[in-house]
Amino acid sequence: MEAPLSAFLFLRYNTGMAERTRVRSTHVLVLRRRDVADADRLLTVLTPGEGKIELLAKGVRKTVSRKSGHLEPFTHAHVMVAQARTWDLITEASTVESFRYLRENLDAIGQASYACELVDAFSDSGDENRPLWELALFVLRELDEAAAGGGSTGGALVDELPPNLLRWFDLHLLSLAGFQPQFFNCLGCSAPIEPGANFFSLSEGGIFCPRCGPLRSDVEAVPVDVLKVLRYLQSQPWPEVRRLSVRTSVARYVDTLLQRYLSHVLERRLRSTDFLRRLEHVRQQRSNSSELGGEEKKHAHP
Ligand SMILES: [Zn+2]
Repeated sequence: MEAPLSAFLFLRYNTGMAERTRVRSTHVLVLRRRDVADADRLLTVLTPGEGKIELLAKGVRKTVSRKSGHLEPFTHAHVMVAQARTWDLITEASTVESFRYLRENLDAIGQASYACELVDAFSDSGDENRPLWELALFVLRELDEAAAGGGSTGGALVDELPPNLLRWFDLHLLSLAGFQPQFFNCLGCSAPIEPGANFFSLSEGGIFCPRCGPLRSDVEAVPVDVLKVLRYLQSQPWPEVRRLSVRTSVARYVDTLLQRYLSHVLERRLRSTDFLRRLEHVRQQRSNSSELGGEEKKHAHP
């Protein structure tokens, strides 16, 4: 009896060692958090190498927690993560960028929350997307810098936040997520789009030329100025776009069109992830039952 017992102990000991060494470090951007258990928080974070993941911060709502200050929404932190059965655990956290000026400005907080929500909605769990990581941090840095500009007067005013930033962010996020709308060539005939009576299709995600547009039922006329701004926002880097001055009426039109396109894409995306999940579920059930079937067959025909 002695041998099996010591073998068992040895095995247990080894497993324990392996678990203790399964600790990794990563940079995170806190996108979302929710309270669980008594003092724990489940954080949805974006990482440069693993995409979006969920991490458990234990005891973080206790006032004595050393981790709590480093894990607020839209904080860029460096964390140590220990692998665990359900959610991996944050064992240590330190702030890399706190964006403290942003946090003192309600409009900047609103814009940062919007950006984080969109990043959350468009990023996939466990899929590395480094450009998305860079884009998310870039927007927060811009907002922080803009909010810091008003620091001496006791907080930035509404119009001190860069007015084109979120529109630029929307279009670049869409491109990185694989939903880039086509503004430069007709989706019908591929001809380069010229200024004129062009059409936008929400469902096709782009522009149809004056010849192809009228043949379709799912299009709407898009004003020349609006298309011009959309093309500029999509194709130019931020330092160029920052200098762009857009008429209020055009800016509103662009905003509305982008919002409609984003919700259209998100609805489709959410539906498809839902569908994929259901499919996965069905597949698993099928493979389970075929395994069972295989077993039965084996027993029936040894
Ligand atoms: Zn065409």
